[in-house]
Amino acid sequence: QKALSKADQMKIWDKTENPDKLHDGVITAISRQGGQLLHKGVEYDFMIKPEMLLLQKTEITVGEKILFSFDNENHCMLEQTKPRTQILSRPDPTRKNVERTIAVNMDAIIIVASIDSPKLNFSLIDRFLIGVEQSAAKAILCINKCDLKNEENSAELYKLDVYRSLGVDIFFCSAEEGEGLEELFSDLAGKTCVFLGTSGVGKSSLLNALDPELQLRTAETRERAAGRGRHTTVMSQMYLVRNDIKVIDTPGVREFNFLDLEAHEVQYGFKEFREFLPCQFNNCTHEHEKKCAIKDAVERGDISKWRYDSYLKIVKTLSVKRLAPKQRDILLF
Ligand code: GDP
Ligand code: ZN
Repeated sequence: QKALSKADQMKIWDKTENPDKLHDGVITAISRQGGQLLHKGVEYDFMIKPEMLLLQKTEITVGEKILFSFDNENHCMLEQTKPRTQILSRPDPTRKNVERTIAVNMDAIIIVASIDSPKLNFSLIDRFLIGVEQSAAKAILCINKCDLKNEENSAELYKLDVYRSLGVDIFFCSAEEGEGLEELFSDLAGKTCVFLGTSGVGKSSLLNALDPELQLRTAETRERAAGRGRHTTVMSQMYLVRNDIKVIDTPGVREFNFLDLEAHEVQYGFKEFREFLPCQFNNCTHEHEKKCAIKDAVERGDISKWRYDSYLKIVKTLSVKRLAPKQRDILLF
């Protein structure tokens, strides 16, 4: 079979055979040949049309807004996808010009961090924020494990003011003791969400608190399951939970860790830098240049010093780009 050109693919993609028979839906689960969709509060299995299967692997994802038809036997057939309003993606680690879609059409991205174990890492939060900035979703920061709060681990919490001034909503929670959860979950009511954060900060615990029926594996239960030799099937899914909250969970969401940022993405991902960009020189690194609008803004106090330092730290990790991927993984963070 001859491979279709991109232009041919788009023709098939746009084809609408019976416009009056099409219904709106959102994809809630996806596999090779089909998946599940949500239509007027009910989930249906659907099939992907053979012409579209060619595109399925990379193009169609959970959260996709779609049009579908019912065939004679009342089976759902995916006909067409609608334009995406939000996209969380990152460059493919092996093929530089390929973007890998992680999630689409989410209203909010909740960056989860923990006040302790693992320690609050502002450089990591800044990295996640760069991705959220690019996605067009609303950024929410959830500081979890507040039951572990003490004088030492809260010494840097003053830094959160910068995020607040950039429009990030912040919630202090404890998935373990329940603190702050109702505030967070009522803020998320009606929204489609993605929870991002490094391993161990409590994402699974928060989601289980949101809906105990999810029974997601937390660190403890993962360990027990591993002992029995069971493997988790990696699948993309949208969880429908209380308060009409929809949570998108894909393998990409679970792996998301920003190894692949470009220098220009970093500076624009620091939202408060934007009004001073571009600098006198278009390729200014804002590090050693004599005349630099960013450095001047830091000097005046218009950009906070720690965010500037965080920017430099992230940019430094980019200079190790030419190393083999394995080595890079170790050098970052
Ligand atoms: P994930 O990797 O982000 O999904 O994190 P998990 O939900 O698996 O949690 C990692 C560990 O932190 C587990 O041992 C949880 O029991 C623990 N944990 C989660 N939330 C809290 C919390 O609010 N307070 C405390 N003290 N521990 C928590
Ligand atoms: Zn500069």
